[in-house]
Amino acid sequence: MSLTELDKKYIASTYNRFPVEVSHGKGAILYDKNGKEYIDLGSGIGVNAFGYCDDNWCDAVKEQISQIQHTSNLYYTEPSVKLAKLLCEKTGMKKVFFSNSGAEANECAIKAARKYASKKKGDEYFTIITLKNSFHGRTLTTLAATGQDKFHELYKPLTDGFISIDAEDTDALLTAIKNHKTAAVILECIQGEGGVIPLSHEYISSVRKITEENDVLLIIDEVQTGNGRTGKLYAYMNYGITPDIVSTAKGLGGGLPLGATLLGEKVENIFDFGDHGSTFGANPVCCAAALSVLERLTDGFLDEVRKKSEFLFDFFSDRKGIESVSGMGLMVGLKTTRPAKDVILEAMENGVLLLSAKDKVRLLPPLNIDIGLLGKAAETIAKICEKEN
Ligand SMILES: *Cc1c(COP(=O)(O)O)cnc(C)c1O
Repeated sequence: MSLTELDKKYIASTYNRFPVEVSHGKGAILYDKNGKEYIDLGSGIGVNAFGYCDDNWCDAVKEQISQIQHTSNLYYTEPSVKLAKLLCEKTGMKKVFFSNSGAEANECAIKAARKYASKKKGDEYFTIITLKNSFHGRTLTTLAATGQDKFHELYKPLTDGFISIDAEDTDALLTAIKNHKTAAVILECIQGEGGVIPLSHEYISSVRKITEENDVLLIIDEVQTGNGRTGKLYAYMNYGITPDIVSTAKGLGGGLPLGATLLGEKVENIFDFGDHGSTFGANPVCCAAALSVLERLTDGFLDEVRKKSEFLFDFFSDRKGIESVSGMGLMVGLKTTRPAKDVILEAMENGVLLLSAKDKVRLLPPLNIDIGLLGKAAETIAKICEKEN
């Protein structure tokens, strides 16, 4: 049986895969088993921040894995402490809880918010306000937080206590807070899976002001937007606000599974022994990998990310077949005249890997991609987009 057939036979059919058998990669280049070369502008959905098998990243992983691959959270380990310290120093947040994925990072954020509100205001203050068109994960609780009905249908009842409101509508937020005993608001500064839609500065500032005035916690979901993706270390830094809780994952480990929930002043000591945990959380190899990623996301490096971003936005604006360009940094959405699916398939044939987000083509290239290579991929995309269907 071919790999495709074996996959169909033995792996749960939750993914509709493209007909590509991946073999290996280096930097932004991915090779399939036939030796075909692709410029990968998807980075494993924003995970491989420094591309495939980056030398520094590999060294950090190899060094740690030959020391100790895992212990339990019953003991102290250096990589997790160093990483938590660096995350706090770079963000001003106070403490970190490590998990293994974006959904888990959000679960922890929600637990922290619920415990805070319950202690401060009472058990009935459990509502979490989320935005329509958001995406926060696939567990039953983070699905409840996800403001898209299509993800809910098969799995009801979901976790109770979530309501979603329209983005960019501060009156809706005020009404929701008035009508529900609220613990927190959770949002993505740029809705990723929802179609690469940045929220406005005015809206985010208002949300921060309203939540502060009502002692409602503001959780920023930086699972996709975090770790340099938007040209700042975290997307909220583009908006000049300070969240109470930040969740992140995807690019943090540079290709190894790691989630982090950063706890700000109000919730830094919210958890007591036994309140939360994760067997794999703070895995030393994942933390060493993340440390090597985070150490390289310097101001100078982020300047380069912003330059590449400007290049892409300039390149794609006013192009035939591209109706709009959205996003921030190296998180870019293209509304194409041709169906996104057709563009993605044809780009793949032409050696460029792309993602979709709703009806858009989505680009999440490795942050250190060579600008020449990025230009080459952009030319390929532009040619495909300007064709008549
Ligand atoms: C991908 C994503 C998640 C879920 O992350 P997993 O690691 O798949 O659990 C949550 N929030 C946002 C904004 C995401 O993009």
